[in-house]
Amino acid sequence: MERIVKKTDQSIFQTYNRYPVALTKGKGARVWDARGKEYLDFLSGIAVCNLGHCHPAITQAAQEQLEKLVHVSNFFYTAPQADLSDMLSAHSFADRIFFCNSGAEANEAALKLARKYAYNRSGGKRFEIITMEYSFHGRTFATLTATGQEKMHKGFAPLLPGFRYVPFNDINALKQSVDDSVCAVMIEPIQGEGGVNLPDQQYLQEVRALCDSEDILLIFDEVQVGMGRTGKLFAYEHYGVEPDIMTLAKALAGGLPAGAMLAGSKVAAGFTPGSHASTFGGNPVVMAAGVAVMNELINGGVLENCRTMSDYFFEKLAALQQRYPEIIKEVRGKGLIVGMELHLDGKEIVEQCLDNGLIINCTRDRVLRFLPPLIVGEKEIDACVAVLEDLFAGMPTQP
Ligand SMILES: *Cc1c(COP(=O)(O)O)cnc(C)c1O
Repeated sequence: MERIVKKTDQSIFQTYNRYPVALTKGKGARVWDARGKEYLDFLSGIAVCNLGHCHPAITQAAQEQLEKLVHVSNFFYTAPQADLSDMLSAHSFADRIFFCNSGAEANEAALKLARKYAYNRSGGKRFEIITMEYSFHGRTFATLTATGQEKMHKGFAPLLPGFRYVPFNDINALKQSVDDSVCAVMIEPIQGEGGVNLPDQQYLQEVRALCDSEDILLIFDEVQVGMGRTGKLFAYEHYGVEPDIMTLAKALAGGLPAGAMLAGSKVAAGFTPGSHASTFGGNPVVMAAGVAVMNELINGGVLENCRTMSDYFFEKLAALQQRYPEIIKEVRGKGLIVGMELHLDGKEIVEQCLDNGLIINCTRDRVLRFLPPLIVGEKEIDACVAVLEDLFAGMPTQP
């Protein structure tokens, strides 16, 4: 394990703060390190392995496709791409899908489509895009600009022109920000990296109504909360609103790199041949894995399990909060994206959890984030809560 850590630290860009743990194997909700130590994975590669590690249906689908055809250019048709796009449109508001390889790329595609669609209608008068404070949309220049977090912008100026930010869940701030230069509003229905922030039930409906009355496109970034994470296939289904454009990535192909940008046919017509492209986008192996993921989510009882385990997890965490109100400020989330806001910094707790065989992470300094695979069981949730309980019991009561 030391060898892997040392080589990596010497030769890979220092863009991540890594834990000194090299992982070699995974199965279900568990992973193992190079020394054979077992961990309960309540991070799932940041909401990527929604069906757990090495799900047999995903492995089989990818393996079979690997032996048939690995890659062809998008000048040609392939069955896995046809199947996944067909399934995604059948189960969402969308009519058309553009495939790419990551969340940032999916959001790039969405931002480009919003501008192009508006350009076709207004000849370039409308180009501004409104995003939310504490949002996260990616690390490319456009998506970094869209990301409403100054600490990530620092040192990269000048950013892309034509972006403005408003507080999340504040409809009046959004109304004030809208004028006739705005072409789109981009929102995560539930903010992930920004601290697991949920909107009020009517907020997204008010945003939808505002976008309709002002002729503005509504983009939902469901890169983190899509693909069953909230207990429904897409988070927007909880709020009774449909976006004009939606982006997916993370869990889309169960751990293989995939992104997608989805839109209704009217908006999708803003892109024509030559408007956008991706060499690897829609790769047959990745798409075959995506089809397996969709099958499991829709027919495999995974969404039901997510909802049942969500209720169970929240019940346990509420009890924990009652026992440790001086440590836990709030528990919030939907389905199996769960944030636990603390009265203290979470970094050390995350490290202690890791020592005790539990993988979680911390966002916004004080919010522990739990993203277990959607196939998680009661025993595993009990084990997670037991690790937390042990840690909290051993902490001084006065923060
Ligand atoms: C992770 C994430 C992204 C970026 O995805 P990458 O695949 O890392 O580019 C964008 N939006 C949201 C909401 C995310 O959680």
